[in-house]
Amino acid sequence: MRTIPRSSRFSNGSVSFWFRETGLPERRAPLPGTADYDVCVVGAGYTGLWTAYYLKKEQPDLRVAVVEREFAGFGASGRNGGWLSAEFAGSRERYAQSHGKAAMIALQRAMMDTVTEVISVAEAEGVDADIVRGGMRLVATNAAQRERLAEDIEYLQEWGYWPDDIHLVEGDHEPRLAVSGAVASAYSPHAARVHPAKLVTGLARVVEDLGVMIFEGTAVEEIRPRGATARPAVVTEHGTVYADHVVRATEGFTSTLRGQRRDWLPMNSSMIATEPLPAELWDKIGWEGREVLGDAAHSYVYAQRTADDRIAIGGRGVPHRLGSAQDQDGATQPQVIAGLWQALVRMFPDVAEVPVEHAWSGVLGVPRDWCPAVHMDTETGLGWAGGYVGSGVATSNLAGRTLRDLILRRETDLTRLPWVGHQVRTWEPEPLRWVGTQVIHGLYRTADRRESRTEDRAHTSRLAEIATRIAGR
Ligand SMILES: Cc1cc2nc3c(=O)[nH]c(=O)nc-3n(C[C@H](O)[C@H](O)[C@H](O)COP(=O)(O)OP(=O)(O)OC[C@H]3O[C@@H](n4cnc5c(N)ncnc54)[C@H](O)[C@@H]3O)c2cc1C
Repeated sequence: MRTIPRSSRFSNGSVSFWFRETGLPERRAPLPGTADYDVCVVGAGYTGLWTAYYLKKEQPDLRVAVVEREFAGFGASGRNGGWLSAEFAGSRERYAQSHGKAAMIALQRAMMDTVTEVISVAEAEGVDADIVRGGMRLVATNAAQRERLAEDIEYLQEWGYWPDDIHLVEGDHEPRLAVSGAVASAYSPHAARVHPAKLVTGLARVVEDLGVMIFEGTAVEEIRPRGATARPAVVTEHGTVYADHVVRATEGFTSTLRGQRRDWLPMNSSMIATEPLPAELWDKIGWEGREVLGDAAHSYVYAQRTADDRIAIGGRGVPHRLGSAQDQDGATQPQVIAGLWQALVRMFPDVAEVPVEHAWSGVLGVPRDWCPAVHMDTETGLGWAGGYVGSGVATSNLAGRTLRDLILRRETDLTRLPWVGHQVRTWEPEPLRWVGTQVIHGLYRTADRRESRTEDRAHTSRLAEIATRIAGR
């Protein structure tokens, strides 16, 4: 294997490249002691902040607090690939089983509106997050991927995407994007590139300006439901917050909370960012449309052209650590960096000479059935949203608006969407789930290798089908 060129400024971890660009924010004060609010949100990522935002916009006199262990954006919200897209994880059939097909289609259409909603709010509130609505491009680089991509598009067109919403690229209607070895590609206008850290820190500022209290450096130890005489409570190291409603917005970190260990699998995703590419390389590659870019592999990658002309590319890292141990600062293993760099160079061979400047990882939440959900139990006073399985940038906004309606006890189009109240069983205990995830990801990787080696193999490898069955997706 070729040596990966490293920038003299190379850094591994430090939360993310995005925060290195903006600088880590100055910490807000922790919770000063026991307190009382109408709504207490745990976790200052997109889910928590959007929930606070919409509640306060709708009802300015509501007393809302957000309690965050580190700082706003420390989690996946400040580390992701910046795909603000209408992609919704989870089996359409599963949601349709409980609510009917039309309801699932309504959910998909709501996701498309959500992309517009995030962009509009960012603009209206003066949040500059380098947003470019260039759409989404998916490429296939072998026969099996081409077949899968065509099937996926056909499938999505049955579930709420019309041909204008996603289609195979034919001719040169879309902006040029030269991916080496591409044999087919698909395009959807329902996506935008964002700078994740600028979005989350900007949102935190807006929410604070609306009068929401954000307490940082405050670890929540336990969330208690309403009791016979006690209000719902958020127990922290600095005191307890009592509130009528508590929203758990801790996605990939949820398993660290008492009683929540097996709810969602904390899955790692990792990224690298290159130095800025010279203009001659961009002339070759194109990518003037700044669309977000992904592939059709089983162990897929996602990428963006950044505002300052780097390529940031991500994919599954070491998927899940034994005992669900979590990496705190985003440090990424050498083999994961190497895998991402190989994927980058396969797509853009000329980029092999451009040094890699940063590598980092983050953790996202995966429910046992891989289906995101939003809940608010008015009896216990506890609500939560997440399990977005790597598609949370837009979905968290839909969750925030839905939680607002549920907390304010309004029946709306949003509260009728089929992911509201969706129930799922918990994950198997360790080490079973660790073994399971290793097997699944091993099978997907082998399937990708097989599909890319066999030129005329036009079908998805059996191994991938087995992996999907084991995963219970
Ligand atoms: C590397 C990576 C790339 C991704 N790329 C994309 C993408 O391109 N597009 C997309 O749609 N999705 C992507 N995702 C997923 C997306 O980023 C997440 O789904 C989304 O950010 C989740 O937001 P959240 O607010 O629910 O959780 P988070 O952003 O993880 O926020 C949870 C917060 O809770 C805090 N917290 C945790 N435990 C406690 C506690 N005990 N007490 C107090 N606070 C606590 C954390 O510090 C954190 O700030 C990616 C994820 C990763 C990791």
